[in-house]
Amino acid sequence: MSKLTIKEIEEELDKCTKCKLCEEVCSIFLFTKKFTPYDKLKVVKEIFQNSQKPDNWETVFLCTKCEACDYICPEKIPLTKIVDEGRKTCVEKWGIQYPRQKVITQNILDTGNPFANSESRTAWLDKELAKKSKNLLHLGCMISYTNSKMGKSIINVLEKLGVDFTISPEEFCCGYFVYNTGNHKVAKQIIERNSIEFKKYEQIITACAGCYTFIKEHYDLNNQLKHVIEIIFEKIQNKKIDPSIKRKLAIFLDSCHLTRPHGIIEPPRVILEKMGYELKEFDLTKEKGLCCGADGGMRIIKIDFALEMGKNRLEKAIEKSNTIFTLCPFCIHNLKEAAQTFAIDIQIKDIFEELDKILP
Ligand code: SF4
Ligand code: SF4
Repeated sequence: MSKLTIKEIEEELDKCTKCKLCEEVCSIFLFTKKFTPYDKLKVVKEIFQNSQKPDNWETVFLCTKCEACDYICPEKIPLTKIVDEGRKTCVEKWGIQYPRQKVITQNILDTGNPFANSESRTAWLDKELAKKSKNLLHLGCMISYTNSKMGKSIINVLEKLGVDFTISPEEFCCGYFVYNTGNHKVAKQIIERNSIEFKKYEQIITACAGCYTFIKEHYDLNNQLKHVIEIIFEKIQNKKIDPSIKRKLAIFLDSCHLTRPHGIIEPPRVILEKMGYELKEFDLTKEKGLCCGADGGMRIIKIDFALEMGKNRLEKAIEKSNTIFTLCPFCIHNLKEAAQTFAIDIQIKDIFEELDKILP
């Protein structure tokens, strides 16, 4: 969690040639025509320099942290890291916190999850798992408390593929939300707490893309970290699947957190093709793919923005297929709500659930 200095931010600002390539992949800019990635650089500089918060401070919170601007920028300006620094400075200098952000942060500290749910994370599980294993499956808060269907499917698929794993009763929020909304001090406490538990295992398998990127980038772990799709990809190579579903078209929405920073692009596509789907691609896809709108705390900061971005993804998807697949619990959640809000008739499917249905 290294801190950028004002000098470093000025140097990055000087590098910007105003080529505007980042606008073309920024989901926020594409529908607001405002809040460009390079605008954020200027705003962060003001946030760093001013003693009073600048009028345009909110610009740094209007970002899904999808990292598309980092990927496309020819000058390699680390825009997302600069946004993180801007948010952190807003929190530390002026105590800026959105009302739900405050509540959610407190919920996490009190109960280990954003929903203040005091039930076990696997209250929905209808079977016994191994009590001990060298591999820890970290489900994440979204799957544990909002998508037990996805949780059950992941567990079933791992078992069918012969993966040895356990889930810890000590599982706690990874700190991703708290960090993303600028509260780096609390995120550090959470990282320290979880690291003690993680270090008991040889391998951590995350079910959620957000947990994966956060743990990979902010935890200092010796153990190997994998996203569950990588494990399934490795194990399924030699498995014969005889799909009972009819071969049909589908489109896959990449998770920002797996593609751009970590290059996990082919595994879900190969698995879907093995399941019998013929895949279509968005015009902007893979590393250039647009965000579903849910991320970077956007559903807490501005739910209407999150849903508009979700609507855009669904409208683009439906031009090519009436079935959209994702593997991320945040994407599923936001896309389903966008489909309902804007009455878009499309099937939103979870890759794990469909795989569980056809795997023997
Ligand atoms: S991280 Fe994504 S949403 Fe944020 S400024 Fe960059 S492209 Fe836009
Ligand atoms: S892509 Fe990079 S150099 Fe070009 S406008 Fe955006 S931040 Fe500036």
